[in-house]
Amino acid sequence: MGCIIFNRVASFCRKVLNRDSSTRVPEEQTLQVYQRQEHSISRKDISENALKVLYRLNKAGYDAYLVGGGVRDLLLDKQPKDFDIATNATPEEIKKLFRNCRLIGRRFRLAHILFGRDIIEVATFRGHHSDAPVQATTPKDSKQKPQISSRNREGMLLRDNVYGTIDEDAERRDFTINALYYSVKDFTVTDYANGVEDLNNRIVRLMGDPETRYREDPVRMLRAVRFAVKLDMDIDPATAAPIQELSSLLQDIPAARLFEESLKLLQSGQGLETYRMLREYNLFQQLFPILADHFTEDQSSQTEKMIEHILASTDKRIAEDKRVNPAFIYAAMLWYPMMIRAEEVSFASGLSFYDAFMVASNDILDDQVRTIAIPRRHTTTVRDIWQQQLRFARRSGKRAFKTMEHPKFRAAYDFLEMRALFEGHDIKELAQWWAEFQNADRNQRGKMVMNVNEGGNRRPRRRRPQQRRKKPQPKSS
Ligand code: ATP
Ligand code: MG
Repeated sequence: MGCIIFNRVASFCRKVLNRDSSTRVPEEQTLQVYQRQEHSISRKDISENALKVLYRLNKAGYDAYLVGGGVRDLLLDKQPKDFDIATNATPEEIKKLFRNCRLIGRRFRLAHILFGRDIIEVATFRGHHSDAPVQATTPKDSKQKPQISSRNREGMLLRDNVYGTIDEDAERRDFTINALYYSVKDFTVTDYANGVEDLNNRIVRLMGDPETRYREDPVRMLRAVRFAVKLDMDIDPATAAPIQELSSLLQDIPAARLFEESLKLLQSGQGLETYRMLREYNLFQQLFPILADHFTEDQSSQTEKMIEHILASTDKRIAEDKRVNPAFIYAAMLWYPMMIRAEEVSFASGLSFYDAFMVASNDILDDQVRTIAIPRRHTTTVRDIWQQQLRFARRSGKRAFKTMEHPKFRAAYDFLEMRALFEGHDIKELAQWWAEFQNADRNQRGKMVMNVNEGGNRRPRRRRPQQRRKKPQPKSS
């Protein structure tokens, strides 16, 4: 990027010094405006829908900027995942301008402008929270609104709907590299916290006092790691320092929000590296306490090997533009903890392994959804994939044919193949059998099933299946 032609010291920084310590920025910090010829962002790199929203807001007399990942990634010559817009129009004002608009979020109220499947997120400039009970003011009028901001005792923001000016909005963003604003009016990029310099030096740096900013929103710890990995940057030492100690604050985050975050972390295309870094900072352990119970010093447990494997293969699929199913990832990561739990349940209760397996599946998923609210449609798939694993072993008669008709057969078979990498000879053979069975014609399949009967089913058929689970009794009377 070219040199800075236009550089003015921002008085806004000094103004806030005595206000909200959480968003304090160093006094010498300057606000920099990069003119069109000094940066690489061109309108043709911005989605048509985002441009439409920017133009319409501008035309109606509001300020509107592209902000966040859209600007950051374009400056890095990367394709942005989405385009976020910030404006001084309130959500209600935005709604009036766009027929295809939906207001969402309680903690952080936003407008979604819908263009078919494409959604442009438009946020109203955020202002400062004072410690007194907060009344919100809107940027255009100062009509008072009820209870728009609140914090819990740890300093966590429970509501963040105090509107403000663009300067305040910039200070309330998380990282310097995310506080960059692109205007379609004059094509400038406004940099509030030396974000361009940090982009050039590849540094992820929180604005303000890191501990306070993490306490306000502990998810910022996850975001620091996500951006460091995604953008191949280092986390600034002061930004990294408090993470380990504050990691347990993630326990206060609603499980539904953590589900969304978990997808961004695991399905970013760099899931494996993200997991490793999250683990180093004791963050992964907060999201997946069940998995953490199986962590070892030398990372040698089956659970750890499976996590590494599933994340590496997910990354590969994403690189190949293939679909990834979050249920498959969750099923894989939680499989060995579930199996171990099933053994324990079976041992402690005397239940058959099948019944213990069902109990353990429920237990593990119930535990996991307490931290990460995996939606029911996915937990149903996780259960299906797991239950099919039991069915794979039972192939006699029509069973194998039935198993193949199950809607989740493909996923379950892929899962079996994956288990074959980590489990004993029997599972390898089983996976091999199923590979052949799928490729065989009807005749051959019949024969394969018969062979299973001949070879593997030495027990005579029983009329009374309820006896099957009983221990063999001595033959005497
Ligand atoms: P990407 O979309 O590539 O994951 P992003 O930076 O655009 O990255 P979003 O979650 O889309 O991330 O958020 C858009 C912008 O909103 C961010 O760049 C940041 O400025 C601001 N933001 C998001 N989450 C927070 C947060 N927890 N605290 C402060 N600011 C945030
Ligand atoms: Mg974004």
